[in-house]
Amino acid sequence: MRSPLKPGATIGILGGGQLARMLALAAAPLGLRCHVYTPEENSCALDVVHDATIAAYDDEKALARFAEAVDIVTYEFENVPARTAEILAAHRPVLPDPKVLETTQDRLIEKNFITRLKIATAPFAPVHSATQLAEGLAKVGVPAVLKTRTLGYDGKGQEKIMAAADAGAAWRRLKHVPCILEGFVNFQREVSVIAARSADGNVECFELTENDHRDHILHISRVPAKATPALETEARRVATRIVNAFDYVGVMGIEMFVVKRGREQHVLVNEVAPRVHNSGHWTIDGATVSQFEQHIRAVAGLPLAKPKRLGAKVEMRNLIGDEILSTADYLTQPNTAVHIYGKGKPSPRRKMGHVTRVWPGK
Ligand code: AMP
Repeated sequence: MRSPLKPGATIGILGGGQLARMLALAAAPLGLRCHVYTPEENSCALDVVHDATIAAYDDEKALARFAEAVDIVTYEFENVPARTAEILAAHRPVLPDPKVLETTQDRLIEKNFITRLKIATAPFAPVHSATQLAEGLAKVGVPAVLKTRTLGYDGKGQEKIMAAADAGAAWRRLKHVPCILEGFVNFQREVSVIAARSADGNVECFELTENDHRDHILHISRVPAKATPALETEARRVATRIVNAFDYVGVMGIEMFVVKRGREQHVLVNEVAPRVHNSGHWTIDGATVSQFEQHIRAVAGLPLAKPKRLGAKVEMRNLIGDEILSTADYLTQPNTAVHIYGKGKPSPRRKMGHVTRVWPGK
């Protein structure tokens, strides 16, 4: 086991968006510095970090210099190129281990991995040919969702198929890239578990979070989720099994659908994110420890905290695009914390900030 990072040590973060920004803000009270590596000069994390490298992810010299300047490396996004991770790992520990990325960058490999753990997902089938598309439709039925195996997010790279006859056109719109076909889940609600795992195998899950999406983008997260204790236990157990199977170190977001089977509710895993997750932002103001601090603790080799909600309920609302213009209104509301990411000009569908409201009480 590596020894914990000492105050004054530097964590390298790949990616310079709002997640890196909030990670750096959480590292500071622990006396840890952050050095961001980003290809973009106007990355919003740059406002709050100790140091930065602005270079492409395939710039091997810049990567080597960055690695030498930091004690460990972590990342804020799952599409870190394999070669980038390999170069960095030759110099410094990269956490979570980049082998996780091979699984989570590809929806098909990820679903197969989860299925092997005997965890339920939507029915799915690979689509690499017209024959497989037909076979997949026969297996999962309609409605179905066709998703690109790689690089999809916030509804991008996804086509809903209402009738089998529309499937060919849907795949054409996705440019015939390798896809996964999923049965459309008639879910009651969407939930997520934010789980943290330390190098010595301790797992701490945040409370089950209920998520509403608008136009495929997370809109509101709420805790407590509407869930029976049995469902909450099942969701935490599923999340724990996944992080243990990866021998994971850090915070992972596990998105799930809640479905009804007979009179019982169960979860189906939709996808996992090997990083801090938007549905965990409520923890900054609404819990005794934030997901960002938990991640920093885990990768720094420090003990994890036992997270507990503050208040009777907590709601986190994303500020998308022009919604950021209502910031002043939120500042007048009681028990409300405003987080602006400093991204400059709002554009439609862009996550510009979030607000969290904590209702006092137990
Ligand atoms: P994803 O990119 O896989 O997280 O999908 C984005 C959103 O699309 C999810 O949060 C769901 O609201 C919806 N969605 C994705 N897959 C399915 C599915 N198999 N059945 C029903 N809704 C889905």
